[in-house]
Amino acid sequence: MDAMNLKGKVAFVTGAASGIGKRIAEVYADAGAAVAIADLDPEATERAVAELRQRGHRALGVPLDVTVESQVDAGVRRTVSEFGSLDVLVSNAGIQIVAPLTEFSFADWKKLLAVHLDGAFLTSRAAMREMVSRGRGGSIIFMGSVHSKEASVLKSAYVTAKHGLEGLTRVIAKEGAKHGVRANIICSGFVRTPLVDRQIPEQARNLGITEEDVVRNVMLKETVDGEFTTVDDVARIALMFASFPTNALTGQSLVASHGWYMQ
Ligand code: NAD
Repeated sequence: MDAMNLKGKVAFVTGAASGIGKRIAEVYADAGAAVAIADLDPEATERAVAELRQRGHRALGVPLDVTVESQVDAGVRRTVSEFGSLDVLVSNAGIQIVAPLTEFSFADWKKLLAVHLDGAFLTSRAAMREMVSRGRGGSIIFMGSVHSKEASVLKSAYVTAKHGLEGLTRVIAKEGAKHGVRANIICSGFVRTPLVDRQIPEQARNLGITEEDVVRNVMLKETVDGEFTTVDDVARIALMFASFPTNALTGQSLVASHGWYMQ
């Protein structure tokens, strides 16, 4: 049976200059893939690329905003012209904005939905066009969340966006099947990344509780063991979805959350 490797494959990972996406890019490179680091932050992108190259990997920095159609299309084209194909997309770039619904500004609502949903649409459309035209199939992976399944206070836009990604996953699974293009979504519990570290004091302020209580009684309250999910946990699943060889595994969501959500 084939091991989980990505030798000869090309992966395009958005939000790969930090947190979960950065770890996925490293694990993909270790598994043999050439990796495009597609991120809004140009300096962090360059640092991530330099780290991968230092370890002997093939990496390309593609600074872009996933909400801008021309930048996404150009970034995918550049990756294909540099590495020759595109086999794996991880649509991972994301932001968080927390506030009660009654105080949520329309501008923040639109900004969050744009990064998560417009970004997922634009990147998966560009990747799928390449995958279909080259006839090699491919794997599209969305970064969902337990918030693709469950709601939490203060997160109206985020929960809406993450639920939406499940729908897009299933449509691509259906439209991609005849081309060997698979789509799956990873639904992670809380992971200690800059995105979560920023949220802890904000939630403490909004809920009128201590930061320690946010971690213990909000973020990890429903887990079976009080533990955070890790970037390694998520990257391992991303490798499994990327390297899985058949359409048996498509249209699926996999929850990794220390039992916070059980399906
Ligand atoms: P992070 O803040 O560490 O990294 C996010 C990256 O996305 C950053 O490098 C940032 O520059 C980039 N980015 C933001 N907006 C962008 C844009 N418009 N275009 C291109 N790049 C952009 O966050 P993270 O925790 O690693 O989150 C990654 C993904 O995982 C997000 O989709 C998030 O919703 C999801 N997620 C995170 C957790 C968690 O607990 N950390 C849990 C479940 C799901």
